[in-house]
Amino acid sequence: MNVLVTGGRGYIGRAVAHGLAEAGHTVVSFDMAPLVGEKPRAASSIRQVVGDVRDEPALTRTLQDHAVDAVVHLAGKIVVSESVAEPLPYWDHNVGGGIALLKAMLAANVRQMVFSSSAAVYGAVAAEPIPEHHRRDPLSPYGRTKLTMEWMLEDLDRVGAVHYVALRYFNAAGAVPGVTVERHQPETHLIPNALAAAASGPPLKIFGSDYDTGDGTAMRDYVHVGDLADAHRLALDHLAQGGASMALNVATGLGYTVAEVVASLERALGQPVPTVAADRRPGDPPLLIGRGTAIREQLGWVPAHPDLDDITASAVAANRP
Ligand code: UDP
Repeated sequence: MNVLVTGGRGYIGRAVAHGLAEAGHTVVSFDMAPLVGEKPRAASSIRQVVGDVRDEPALTRTLQDHAVDAVVHLAGKIVVSESVAEPLPYWDHNVGGGIALLKAMLAANVRQMVFSSSAAVYGAVAAEPIPEHHRRDPLSPYGRTKLTMEWMLEDLDRVGAVHYVALRYFNAAGAVPGVTVERHQPETHLIPNALAAAASGPPLKIFGSDYDTGDGTAMRDYVHVGDLADAHRLALDHLAQGGASMALNVATGLGYTVAEVVASLERALGQPVPTVAADRRPGDPPLLIGRGTAIREQLGWVPAHPDLDDITASAVAANRP
């Protein structure tokens, strides 16, 4: 198939684009990031279009020029705390961009979308691991933009305009050698911050040591970025075979605390990660673990790297000079 990947040059987008190309799809990446200074990558077969996901005419042209059959939509703004302080750009990029893309898809007669949603759609969690039918009541503007996109897709599916799989990501982590390494600007994520602390300091701030999780630090469901990418490939196959629209957690069902992640990184590095206790980060839930059974049943997704030590080892190896 010819597949458009929006946000194809981000941390997760690179893994998705590469995985689809490896599976034999023709991939077009549509991303705002300029191409200057980029080294050729392993999957150099990926066609690169530089553009803004709110630019409907550019999207329509791209879909038509490349005879696109299906879209994987990852482009968007992703920092939860920033969305609280400055909500409007989140609505603009994540929902405005989603509407522009859906209009372009209808204009170009492209009817299938795999959408990058988030565990942030759930909000205050009543049961762990979280099942897909859990109440959706997001706590942040970021989560609300993701939920709004899910609602829009549900409405379009109901009238047969677009069929979709919304993948609710838990914590993407780790690296795919030569393809993607976790790096954001600004960096807020645990593993890159811990690796930076190990390399040269300052020490890693551990946000909260008084959670009810055993060792007191917050617990998350870490999914290897290569496994996460694979879920997109399977979701596209599902839609191509006429499968029903649905929302699925991309989760292992296993939880690891911040202290366990740090200890695992220390094993992979063979050196300590300097840490300092800090206050809880506003908006952080104590634990966030997804029920991962529906995606196995519906798509046959089986994570190749559910083990935390595999995930941290891949991050450490990719960051070695
Ligand atoms: N965390 C931390 N120090 C950091 C970054 C993150 O203690 O420098 C904690 C954070 O509070 C959360 C977990 O690590 O409990 C995972 O955070 P991350 O930002 O990687 O992902 P999130 O769960 O917020 O999407």
